[in-house]
Amino acid sequence: MSFFQNTLDLIEKAADIMKLDGDVQTMISHPNRIIQVSIPVKMDNGQTRIFEGFRVQHSNLRGPYKGGIRYHQDVNMEEVKALATLMTFKCAVVDIPLGGGKGGIIVNPKELSNAELERMTRAYTAQIAPFIGPDIDIPAPDVNTDGQIMTWIADEYSRIKQRPALGVVTGKPLFFGGSLGRNRATAQGGVFVLKEATKDLGKKPEDTRVVIQGFGNAGAHAAEILESEGYRVVAVSDSKGGIYCHEGIHVVRAIKCKEETGSVHECTVVGKKFDYHVEEGAVCERITNEQLLELECDILILSALENQVTGKNAHQVKAKLILELANGPLDAEADTILAERGVTVIPDILANAGGVTVSYFEWVQNQMNYYWPEDEVHERLQKIMVQSWEHVKAASDKYSTTLRMGAFITAFERLAEVMKARSIV
Ligand code: NAD
Repeated sequence: MSFFQNTLDLIEKAADIMKLDGDVQTMISHPNRIIQVSIPVKMDNGQTRIFEGFRVQHSNLRGPYKGGIRYHQDVNMEEVKALATLMTFKCAVVDIPLGGGKGGIIVNPKELSNAELERMTRAYTAQIAPFIGPDIDIPAPDVNTDGQIMTWIADEYSRIKQRPALGVVTGKPLFFGGSLGRNRATAQGGVFVLKEATKDLGKKPEDTRVVIQGFGNAGAHAAEILESEGYRVVAVSDSKGGIYCHEGIHVVRAIKCKEETGSVHECTVVGKKFDYHVEEGAVCERITNEQLLELECDILILSALENQVTGKNAHQVKAKLILELANGPLDAEADTILAERGVTVIPDILANAGGVTVSYFEWVQNQMNYYWPEDEVHERLQKIMVQSWEHVKAASDKYSTTLRMGAFITAFERLAEVMKARSIV
C-alpha cells in the first residue's frame, strides 16, 4: 500500500471514530495543488541533466502551506502527497496558524558536486517561485536538505522577486534569518513529549534504555539531548548500519566519529581511533538496521524514513514505547500489531512537530525582523509541545483509542471548525 493511501486510511479511521462530517473528510483527502517540474541542470562535465521535482500544497485552511523539501533517489509523488497531508494535520495538532505542504526532488545529492547541488536547487526554486512565498507557501529542510540549501532558495527567490524575502523558507542559518534552537527543535520537541508520556512510569532516566534508528538531524540531536539528561542510549544507526553498546553509547563521540568516517557503523573498533565503549571492558558491536529494531529496550526512536516497522517485523519489536521522529515510520499493519501488543506509539504528527513549531517561530521572527534569545524559543516550544500532548492524550482517552487517532482527532476538530466557519462544508 502506498504511503499516501496509508495516510488516507488513517484519516478515514479517525473520521469514523469521531463520527466526523463526511464532507470534511473528503475535503482533506485531496491536496489543493500538485506541482510537478522538470529541472534542467548543467552538470560539471558540461552535459545537461533533467531532474524531476515536486511541490504538493495540501491545505492552506489554517494559514500558508508549510513543509520541507526532500532530496532522495526514492522520492515520488505519492510520498510527497502523504507528507504534505501529514503536515496539515501536524500544524493543526500543535495549533500553529499554518497549513500543509511538502516538496522533493528525485536525486541522490551525495552524487552531485556542491556546485551542481546549488544549480539544481536554484533551478528548482525558479520553477516553483510563482507558487511559494512568505505568505503563500514556506518550504523548509527535510531529508538531505539543510541550511545551505535553504539559503540558496531564499537567495534565488529574493533575486527573482527583486526584494529580500527571508521568510520564504525556514531552517536557515543564524546569520541569514534563522532561529536559535531550530536545529535541534524536532528532537527537543519529541523529548518534551516523551517526558510527559513517561512521567508516571517512575523509571529513572539512567535505567531507561533507548535505541535510535537514523542518526541525522532528528536522531543525533535526540541522542544528544537524552544523553545529557541521563538516559542510556544503547544503539544508534544510519543508512549503512548501526552500533550497539550494552553499557550505553558515548553520543558526543559517536557524532564526531560519524562526521569523520561518514557512518556510525564504523564506530566500534576497540582500541582504535574511534573506541566507543563507555566503561572498561564494555565492548560495542556492529548491528544491522533490522537487528536494531528488534533490540531489547524501553524506548525505540524512529528517526530515519517511512515504513521501517512493518507487518513483517512488528512482532519482533521489544520496545515498550516508540517515538516517531520520522514521518510514517510504521506501516498500517505494524500500527495495528503494536497497538494490540500494548506498545505505546507517540505518533509523528505530534512527536516531530517541534520542527515545524520552531520553523513557525523562525517565520514570525523574520516577519517582525526581531529575534528571540534561545531560552525564549525553548520555553515557547516546551509550552506548545506539553499542551499538545495533553490535548492528544485527552482525545485518545475520550474516544478510548490510540495516541495516533487522538492526534488525528485533535487536528480534525480544528480543521473542521475552520471549514465550517468559512462555509467550505
Ligand atoms: P537527515 O537526512 O538529517 O537524517 C536521516 C538519517 O537517517 C541519516 O542518518 C540516514 O543515514 C538515516 N537513514 C536513512 N535510511 C536509513 C535506514 N534505512 N535505516 C537507518 N537509518 C537510515 O534527516 P532528518 O532531518 O533527521 O529527518 C529524518 C526523519 O525525520 C524524516 O522522516 C523527516 O521527514 C523527519 N522529520 C525531520 C524534521 C527535521 O526538522 N529535520 C522535522 C520533522 C520530521
